[in-house]
Amino acid sequence: MRYRVLVCLFLLFACVGCQNSPSKLDEWMRLSSKIKVLSTTSMIDDIVSQIGREKIAHLALIEGAMDPHSYELVKGDSEKLSYAQVIFYSGLGLEHGASLRHQLKEHPKAIAVGDQIREKNPGAILMDRGQIDPHVWLDISLWAEIIDPIVQALSEVDPQNADYYQTNGQEVRENLLKLDRALSEKLQTIPSEKRYLVTSHDAFNYFTRRYLHEGADWKDRFCAPEGLAPDGQLSCQDIQKVINYLRDHQVSVIFPESNVSKDSLKKILSVCKEKGIKVQIAKEALDSDTLGTSSTYQSMMEHNVNILYEAWNE
Ligand SMILES: [Zn+2]
Repeated sequence: MRYRVLVCLFLLFACVGCQNSPSKLDEWMRLSSKIKVLSTTSMIDDIVSQIGREKIAHLALIEGAMDPHSYELVKGDSEKLSYAQVIFYSGLGLEHGASLRHQLKEHPKAIAVGDQIREKNPGAILMDRGQIDPHVWLDISLWAEIIDPIVQALSEVDPQNADYYQTNGQEVRENLLKLDRALSEKLQTIPSEKRYLVTSHDAFNYFTRRYLHEGADWKDRFCAPEGLAPDGQLSCQDIQKVINYLRDHQVSVIFPESNVSKDSLKKILSVCKEKGIKVQIAKEALDSDTLGTSSTYQSMMEHNVNILYEAWNE
């Protein structure tokens, strides 16, 4: 308790200079009557906010276009992590920055929502070259499974509002499953021969399995030059793999991602030019590891599907 008060004072002093434009952090600190919930990514934070609504003060640790795979703590993060009554993180190996991993391990109530999905439904989790693929949020039906662990954790911290969290969770689940069906139906209207997705990094395996698959092996519907965590390191084999894929499936458009550099795709484009393969980079980027410019998780998924729908219908 004493430590929490000290941390609180520290943050209040740190924020003195920004009194005229209160930040999200100021607001989080000010709402002392509410449950303080910190989520690592904005995809989790948004679902938490839809369940906790006015009963909680929520904050995302990794904001903007920061890469959650390799995120390391910056000034002020340790205080946020210490002050949070509950922390939700993705798990499944997503947050592998050492400083963040250490703090998550130390916190008394840090819940890995992706690991909870895996515990309940191990068969749903994908592996890629011996590594767990953490990008579960790109399948809405799987992401809906984080609702129960969130409801449970909020109810443990704030038992008098347990029914409230339960009711909201049910509403969010119905909303997500409805969207899942609608987006699936929309993408299934695209001719099968066009539904071959190429992006910057291996983020869209779950998405492909859920929304682009139709009878044939879904793994053949998606290809990316960079691995599970974008690192910009491309070997000649990585480039050749994508070039062969573009050629074999007559792919004419490849999709950048809002939080990943376009350098890999530009390299591929220049090799395609040399070889006389006609390919272009889509004007708008997909959102893979962040919400991008979308305000909610649902609108981020709609944004992704709309970009693909329009590009593949051209
Ligand atoms: Zn990723």
